[in-house]
Amino acid sequence: MKKIVIATKNQGKLREIKAAFEKLPVEILSLADFKNLPDAVEDGKTFEENARIKAKFFSEQTKLACLADDSGLEVDALNGAPGVFSARFSGCHASDGKNNEKLLEELEKNHIEESAADYRCALCFYDTNGEEILTSGIVKGTIKKIPKGSGGFGYDPYFYIDDKKTMAELTAEEKDSVSHRGEALRQMVPKLKERLS
Ligand code: IMP
Repeated sequence: MKKIVIATKNQGKLREIKAAFEKLPVEILSLADFKNLPDAVEDGKTFEENARIKAKFFSEQTKLACLADDSGLEVDALNGAPGVFSARFSGCHASDGKNNEKLLEELEKNHIEESAADYRCALCFYDTNGEEILTSGIVKGTIKKIPKGSGGFGYDPYFYIDDKKTMAELTAEEKDSVSHRGEALRQMVPKLKERLS
């Protein structure tokens, strides 16, 4: 069975990707299965560039096919921030809690009550022969200062998908059906299936 390394240490992402690949004839590994791997330098300007950088880097490091996700939140009233810096909004190796604090600080500082926002996700599958598959997804919503829900991860408690509900109030299946990652994965799965057959 083909082995695919999912290039993430983010348990939330890993959970969502594993669920989508459940029916594929592949063995899923993650970076946690390897010791002493260096970090990839994510210096791309877009989610697509960073997804490709990570997939290529970890495929070369592990000598296995690799799937990388690069994703994040873009808040209109903050000129698209945190964008590609979503994971490190409040500094290197920041926790979800610290990043959410920083988001609230930025909203306060700029006297913003709420703002249109989107989540974007780019996925890159990079095979050992250098072949690539890129897909992407987007979901539009609103960032508000009152958190709700305990599901999902990251900025989900502040990301309202409609007037009442946040992404963190959805079940895993519901999040998958509306989310940026769900959309990118729905494009990726048939392409991978075709490659693997
Ligand atoms: P990356 O690991 O560099 O791609 O950074 C992804 C970061 O974007 C995460 O650490 C979260 O802060 C944020 N993010 C991406 N996708 C989601 C999501 O589905 N929900 C909440 N936050 C997300």
